[in-house]
Amino acid sequence: MTQIPFVDLKLQYLSIRNEIDTAIANVIRDTAFVNGKYVKLFEENFSAAHNAKHCIGVGNGTDAISIALKALDIGVGDEVITAANSFIATSEAITTAGARVVFVDCLPDTYNIDPSLIEGKITSLTKAIIPVHLYGQPADMDSIMEIAKKHGLYVLEDSAQSHIAEYNSENEGWGKIGVFGDVSTFSFYPGKNLGAYGDAGAIVTNNDKVAKKARMFANHGRVSKYDHEFEGVNSRMDGIQGAILDIKLKYLAGWVEKRREVANHYDKLLKDVPEIILPFVNTKSKHVYHLYVIRTPQRVALKTFLGEKGVSTGVHYPIALPNLSAYKYLEHSPDDFPNASKFQNEYLSLPIFPELTLEQIEYTVKMIKEFFKK
Ligand SMILES: *Cc1c(COP(=O)(O)O)cnc(C)c1O
Repeated sequence: MTQIPFVDLKLQYLSIRNEIDTAIANVIRDTAFVNGKYVKLFEENFSAAHNAKHCIGVGNGTDAISIALKALDIGVGDEVITAANSFIATSEAITTAGARVVFVDCLPDTYNIDPSLIEGKITSLTKAIIPVHLYGQPADMDSIMEIAKKHGLYVLEDSAQSHIAEYNSENEGWGKIGVFGDVSTFSFYPGKNLGAYGDAGAIVTNNDKVAKKARMFANHGRVSKYDHEFEGVNSRMDGIQGAILDIKLKYLAGWVEKRREVANHYDKLLKDVPEIILPFVNTKSKHVYHLYVIRTPQRVALKTFLGEKGVSTGVHYPIALPNLSAYKYLEHSPDDFPNASKFQNEYLSLPIFPELTLEQIEYTVKMIKEFFKK
């Protein structure tokens, strides 16, 4: 029977196996296990890929957010605004930094944070806004930056799902995400568009002071080996991950193009299925399709049907952040976030990865059409 995985990380490894195996062997040969020259090389190339001045490799994408907040001097007593529709890492890292999470509902088209609702959540304690470039599509940075400037707030772009995505800002024109705000954070979790072979993350910024503090905070607040200016954490990138990421970075643009082709095929083949809502792409952004998310009120039944036909799908995310037990203490009701609370029951993520074949796409579409014909 046909089996279509949601992602296939092994296929990608096999396509670059020799380079990867050699890189891993070199790290071991040079005993460059934590930080070290391979991480440094990757940091240089990754910041260049985003036209940014600094990149600091850290342990994972969740730490990247909390460390970046610490580098902005945000902590106990502060409030940070973020999107109701994201993975828990975004809000969790705000709490880890010591600050209070404030959620804002999502837009009905891109599902990114709704800028028109941000000002209503700003108080005298608000210090920053964290938009998430969700599923690979940039958030509305022009509107967010305008609000941030007006109220003197920092902006941290959670770019975990959006490596090298592009945005067309009114002032600066087209550019890679990550440098529109004050600082941005990335995840290299294996399933992300640029994935390591374990956990890894990065902080990217043009601000020298923030870069310096973030690098120190991630490495025990060190000035030198045993001279610590303040207490930080231990969250550094492994040499093996840095070496692997540096190789994969060369292929990233090509892989993103493949993801766009997959998305275009789905768009074309599914446009005449009135029961589903397809991903909306803003003309101001170049989507990198970490996920291809459709919506239907029949999500549960469709997911089950596709599963029976051998097509693996995902849900991103089945419970909007304010509705999670973890945030009961904020005492929200689902009605406070009408879009996020409704859409959580309708999202369905279809298989998408660079190596997905046209045949697999056509099979998936055929099964979706078969479901709605029943
Ligand atoms: C994956 C992800 C993170 C966290 O990254 P990890 O490397 O898994 O810690 C943060 N934010 C978003 C939106 C993510 O998708």
